[in-house]
Amino acid sequence: MQDVPDTHIETFVDACHRAAAHGLMQCSSGNMSWRLDASRFLVTASGCWMESLTPEQVSLCRTADGSLLEGRPPSVESGFHAGILQCRSDIDTVLHFQSPCATTLGCTIGAGEINYAVIPEVPVYIGAIASVPYIRPGSPELAAAVVAAMQDHDLAVLAHHGQVSAAPDLNSAIQNAVFFELACRIILHGGDKVEPLPAEAISAFQTHRAYTA
Ligand SMILES: [Zn+2]
Repeated sequence: MQDVPDTHIETFVDACHRAAAHGLMQCSSGNMSWRLDASRFLVTASGCWMESLTPEQVSLCRTADGSLLEGRPPSVESGFHAGILQCRSDIDTVLHFQSPCATTLGCTIGAGEINYAVIPEVPVYIGAIASVPYIRPGSPELAAAVVAAMQDHDLAVLAHHGQVSAAPDLNSAIQNAVFFELACRIILHGGDKVEPLPAEAISAFQTHRAYTA
């Protein structure tokens, strides 16, 4: 890829492999983007498997409109990757994943009402969780809804589809997805016995977030 250092591509490919190794997606599900500079981003190509992504399966796109600059056709979800990178200057990485427990909860009745704050990692690293109704995957309508939800959230649940994590760097986007999946596993396995964190504990974490942000 012209004027993109090989080390950048290698770092991105390695992060894709690590996201898949955490069980955040299977086969061709999942995609990731990473801001390269003020006007461009890298994104996984359409149809590729994150677990075995190669440098040839990385596409270079324009942030302003998501258009392809170099490489293979980008992920069908590159519209919301571009949109989030456009409106969130604090974000460099967008990860679209489909982990088992989080996706299960996203298919349940009343999914939008779930309190995910069962472990400190949720309020400390992720904050409030957005929920997006089911809209056809890959559609401009879904991209618009995801971008709107991510304007003031770092993680969104897409009903009957998967999740989106956005963070300042590759590791944080993966970490937040892994912690969110753990919270969802606790909620699913614990059932009625699961108790959310006390509200005072969460407000104390939010104060801490404000100080360290
Ligand atoms: Zn998707």
